[in-house]
Amino acid sequence: MSIKNTDVTVLGGGIAGLAAATALAHRGAVVTVLEQATELGEVGAGLQIGPNGVAVLEALGLKDQAAAVANVPDAVELRDMATGREVARLPMGQAAVQRWGRPYWQFHRADLLAVLADGARAAGVDIRLGQKVNSINDISASVVIAADGVRSAVRAEVFNGQPASFTGQVAWRGIIPVEKLPAGAVKNTATVYMGPGRHLVTYPMRGGSVINFVAVEERDSWADEGWNITDTPENLRRAFAGAGRDVQTILNAVEETFLWGLFNHPYLPHWTKGNVALVGDACHPMLPYLAQGAVMALEDAWVLARELDRSGVPEGLLAYERICKPRATKVQKAAASNATAYHLPIGPSRLVAHTGLKAISRLAPSALLGRFDWLYGDDVTKPNQ
Ligand SMILES: Cc1cc2nc3c(=O)[nH]c(=O)nc-3n(C[C@H](O)[C@H](O)[C@H](O)COP(=O)(O)OP(=O)(O)OC[C@H]3O[C@@H](n4cnc5c(N)ncnc54)[C@H](O)[C@@H]3O)c2cc1C
Repeated sequence: MSIKNTDVTVLGGGIAGLAAATALAHRGAVVTVLEQATELGEVGAGLQIGPNGVAVLEALGLKDQAAAVANVPDAVELRDMATGREVARLPMGQAAVQRWGRPYWQFHRADLLAVLADGARAAGVDIRLGQKVNSINDISASVVIAADGVRSAVRAEVFNGQPASFTGQVAWRGIIPVEKLPAGAVKNTATVYMGPGRHLVTYPMRGGSVINFVAVEERDSWADEGWNITDTPENLRRAFAGAGRDVQTILNAVEETFLWGLFNHPYLPHWTKGNVALVGDACHPMLPYLAQGAVMALEDAWVLARELDRSGVPEGLLAYERICKPRATKVQKAAASNATAYHLPIGPSRLVAHTGLKAISRLAPSALLGRFDWLYGDDVTKPNQ
C-alpha cells in the first residue's frame, strides 16, 4: 500500500494543514492546500514548540530552517504575580536536549508558518490562497484532510460537532518591542506570573527583539474565539491592576492587543469518516496552558501521513485516529488542569502548592522535569511506531 500519486486536498493552511501537506507530499501524494486567507501567517503571536514538536519538524526536514528563526529559552519560570518571586524553575536550553533529545523552541507564529509553507512548496504542494471552502461537497479528492482550525466547518458538517461553551476565561495576547521595556526587564525565559484567577505568560522571540505575551483572566463576560478581535490595552491593564511591579512594567508597554475567548469544545467521538480526516484544532482544540495545541497538530500530521501510506483509506485514517486521539485527549485534559494550578486563590491551598513546587524545584529539579517526560519525551516519528 502507498499513497504515491493519490490526490489529497488539505483544507486550511495553518500549522496542521501545512505540516500534513508536507508529510503527505514527501510520501508521494499529490497535495493541494486550500486556504481562505490571502496571505499566510498574518497573525502576530508567539508559539512555543516543545521537544516532541521539534521531532516532527526535524522529520519533515525543516530542522535547520526552523532553528534559524527559533529562540531557545534558558528556562521556564513560574513566579508569583504579586511579588514577582520565583516559585519554580524548569531549566530548558541544554537541559531539554539532554533529557528529551531535542530543544524547546519559541517562534513568532509567522516565522514558523513561513518555514512550513516553504517546506510544503519544496515538497511539491500546491498552496492556493484566497480559497474559502463552504462545504466538503465542493471538494472532489481521493482524500480530504480538514485542518480548518478551532471553528472547523467540517467538524460541524461531517462530524456533527456540538456547540462550544465559554470557559469563563479570556486571553489577551500581543507583542511588545523590547525597546519599549526598561533594560533588564526581558529575560531569556518563558515566565508564567501566577495570580488568583489570572496569569501572564511572556517570552522573547526573534532574537530577543520582541516579547510575546498571553494574559489570561477568569471572568463572567463572554468574548469571541478568533485571532483578529482587538481590545484596548487599558482593559488589559485594568484586569491586572494590583499585580506586582514586573507585571505592571510589561503591561504598561502594551500598545496593541487582541482578545480571545477560551471555549470548551466537547470531545469528538471520531476524527475520521470515510475518506475525510480532521487534524489539529479541528479535532482537538485545547486551552493554551500547556503550549501544545500546535505541537499536537504537528504530531497528527506525521502520524496521519505514515498510516495513510501504510494502509490507505479508510484503514490508515482509522489507525491515525487510534494512535493520536488518546494522547491528544490526555494533553487536552492536562492543559485544562493547568488553569486551576496557575489561578489558585490566595489561601492555604495556594500556599501548600507553591511551597511544594518551590521545594521540588530547588531540591530535585530533575523530578520537576520528569513530570513532562510523557509529553516531551514521546517521539511519534521514531521508526517502528
Ligand atoms: C493565545 C494562544 C496561545 C497559544 N500558544 C501555543 C503555544 O505556545 N504552543 C502551541 O503548540 N500551541 C499554542 N496555541 C494553540 C495553537 O495556536 C493551535 O493549536 C494551532 O494554531 C492549531 O493549528 P491548526 O492548523 O489546527 O489551526 P489554525 O492555526 O487555526 O489554522 C486553520 C487554518 O484554516 C483556515 N480555514 C478555516 N476555515 C477555512 C475554510 N472554510 N476554507 C479555507 N480555509 C479555512 C484558516 O484561515 C487557518 O489558516 C495557542 C493558542 C492560543 C489561542
